[in-house]
Amino acid sequence: MADNKRDYYEVLGVQKNAGEDEIKKAYRSLAKKYHPDMNPGDKEAEVKFKEVNEAYAVLSDADKRSKYDRFGHAAFDPASGGGGSGFGGFGGFGGADFDFGDIFSSFFGGGSSSRGRQNMAIEGDDVATRVTISFEEAAFGCKKDISFARIESCGECGGTGAEKGSTVESCATCRGTGRVTVQQQTMLGYMQTQRSCQSCRGTGKIIKSPCKNCNGKGRIKINKKLEVNIPAGIDHMQNIILRGQGSAGVNGGTNGDLIIEVRVKEDKVFTRDGYHIYCEVPISFTEAALGADIEVPLLGGKTEKLHIPEGTQSGASFTMRGKGIPNVNNGRKGDLIITVVVETPRNLTQKQKDLLEEFANTMDDKNPKSRQSLFSRLFNK
Ligand SMILES: [Zn+2]
Ligand SMILES: [Zn+2]
Repeated sequence: MADNKRDYYEVLGVQKNAGEDEIKKAYRSLAKKYHPDMNPGDKEAEVKFKEVNEAYAVLSDADKRSKYDRFGHAAFDPASGGGGSGFGGFGGFGGADFDFGDIFSSFFGGGSSSRGRQNMAIEGDDVATRVTISFEEAAFGCKKDISFARIESCGECGGTGAEKGSTVESCATCRGTGRVTVQQQTMLGYMQTQRSCQSCRGTGKIIKSPCKNCNGKGRIKINKKLEVNIPAGIDHMQNIILRGQGSAGVNGGTNGDLIIEVRVKEDKVFTRDGYHIYCEVPISFTEAALGADIEVPLLGGKTEKLHIPEGTQSGASFTMRGKGIPNVNNGRKGDLIITVVVETPRNLTQKQKDLLEEFANTMDDKNPKSRQSLFSRLFNK
């Protein structure tokens, strides 16, 4: 960035030992030459104008100038490290990215940037709203009434801002252009600059009897209700974007979009990760040991049989293909993953305890093999 920047003295066309007056004089003539109001639409002049202003901002300040003399552009470029980073007081002066808007306005009374805006096509604003749906509504899709407010062209006056039957007149002060040219004394001498017309506030139009519905603005905020199709498979915090349903554009600009943020409530039975859903199902200790066919819940309040093989451990998972949530783009369904949790019997009767004792006595080892192996790993480290 700093490498291809022109030397500030070169930019102003002065010698390294030039005095303050000489620098100021050089700046005045160059700033006049390249000023945007003198060169409308000329990009090259605009770049030169910024360059000249940047050079002058540094060389007209004794402190900044001496730092520039010692370190060059690096003194003002935080990205280049070295000399620049060590200085305080230059935080807002980031080399090429420095915004010269304030220099423009302090010298020239502002105004070059907003020129000609009044007839430009401006895109309408996007409007954001949100909707909360249930887990199953997200899984199966649903229709929802969405409420939101957007700016529309006033229906009473057809967007003109003038009451029905009355006319909109062209502003006499600016002859309908919305801009006025003013002579101004600046530090560069007299300058002609353009300003927004104060009689018509830059619109170029005078409305004698304003429309009561929109207070003469031609645009009005309307509360809307829209039935929206929420597609199956949508997930928490995803957006639905309805093109053109936002605020109206101006001067033929396109409408903004309506952006609906979808929030999905948690479910009491299922959790979700992408298009797969998860559910924990308790099974008894004998179902786990002997195997069983159990009922498991499905989306939509249905159930289905799932075979639990004998010897199933607590925490084992079973995948039921295609019983999850459809992909919002292609409809392909994810899986339902059932995790079984073995419940150990509690509050046993004496008879049940006796039976279990009897069962335990039939086992070769009272301690599970896997626990024995845990201890052998512990002691043989
Ligand atoms: Zn109106
Ligand atoms: Zn005007």
